Amino acid sequence: MLLDPYKRKINYLRISVTDRCNLRCRYCMPEEGIPLIPRERILSYEELLRIVRVFAKEGISKVRLTGGEPLIRRGIVDFITSLSLIEEIKDLSLTTNGILLRELASDLKRAGLKRVNISLDSLRKDRFCQITRKDEYERVWEGIIESLQVGLSPIKINMVAIQGVNDDEIEAFARLTLHLPLTVRYIEYMPSGNGETWKESDILTIPQIKDRLERLGKLIPIPSDRWDGPAMRFRFEGATGEIGLIGAVSSHFCEECNRLRLTPDGRIRTCLFSDEEIDVRELLRKGGSDHDLKDRLLVALQAKPERHHINTHQFKKCQRNMSAIGG
Ligand code: SAM
Repeated sequence: MLLDPYKRKINYLRISVTDRCNLRCRYCMPEEGIPLIPRERILSYEELLRIVRVFAKEGISKVRLTGGEPLIRRGIVDFITSLSLIEEIKDLSLTTNGILLRELASDLKRAGLKRVNISLDSLRKDRFCQITRKDEYERVWEGIIESLQVGLSPIKINMVAIQGVNDDEIEAFARLTLHLPLTVRYIEYMPSGNGETWKESDILTIPQIKDRLERLGKLIPIPSDRWDGPAMRFRFEGATGEIGLIGAVSSHFCEECNRLRLTPDGRIRTCLFSDEEIDVRELLRKGGSDHDLKDRLLVALQAKPERHHINTHQFKKCQRNMSAIGG
C-alpha cells in the first residue's frame, strides 16, 4: 500500500498520454495552441506500460488516461488492451472531448475500457463552437450516443461552469439526467491553463450550482462507492442518470486526494497545482531498473503536498498548461 506523509492512501495514477489536442477551448489554451513537447520526449507506450506495471505492484490500482486529447494518439486502443491485462489495475478509465468516440467507442469497449468521462461545456451548438473554437458539437453527441450503445458505463459528462459563459445551462445539463443514463458532473473553473485569464469572479461555485439544482427538484444523495473520486453524488427523484458536484476550488478535497499524475514527457506530478515534478523518463532511458522506478515513485509520494493553495495568498498559477499535465 502506498501511503504519503499525510497518511493518504495513494492508489490512482492519471496519465496524460499526449499534450496534443483537437480542440482549442478558450479557458485552456490560445487559438494557436501552446508550444508542444517534442515527440522524442514523449513516453512510448512500452515505457508507459513498464511504469504502470511497476507502480501497480506497489499499490496503484486505478488508472485514468487523459491529455491533451488521448484519443488522437495513434495506437491508443492497443495500449488500453495492454493496460487492461495488468491484473492489479482494477479500474481503467478515460477522459476525452468525445470527438473520436463515434469511431472508437466499440473498439475501446472491446479493448477493456469500462467507462468514460466526456467533457462538454455547452448544449448549444453555437456556444460549443465559441468555447472550443471548433465546429464539432454534433460529433461529440454522436460519440456520446455511440458510447451509450456499446455499453460503456458509467458515462460521465464533465461541464466546467463559468460565469457569463455557460452558467445559464446548469439546469439544461441537469435535465439530461432525467431520461438518459448519464452522470452530469459540474466542475468549478480552476486557475490553470494558458487560455483566457481566470478571475475568481468567473467561478460558479458548487454551493451556487447546488442551490440552483435544488430549485429544479429534490436532490437525493447517493453514497459513494470505492472507486468514486471527490464528486458528491445525487439523483433527482425518478431520474435515470446522476448528478456529480466537484468543488476543487471552493471546498478543496485534498485530505482525500489519492492521486498522482504522469505527464506525457515522463514526470510524476504530485498535485495539479504544484510544479513539483519527479522525472522518470531519463531514469528509464538511462537504463534504470524497476527498483529505481519504484524509488522514484516513493520520492514522489513523499513530496506530495498536504493541500493546494488556491484561495490563499501562497497560490501561484502552475507553469504547465492543463493539457500537458492531464486535466
Ligand atoms: N481532452 C480531454 C478532455 O477534453 O476531456 C482531456 C484533457 S482536458 C485538459 C481535461 C478536462 O480538464 C476537461 O474536462 C476540461 O474541461 C478540464 N479543464 C481544462 N482547463 C480547466 C480549468 N481551468 N478549470 C477546470 N477544468 C478545466
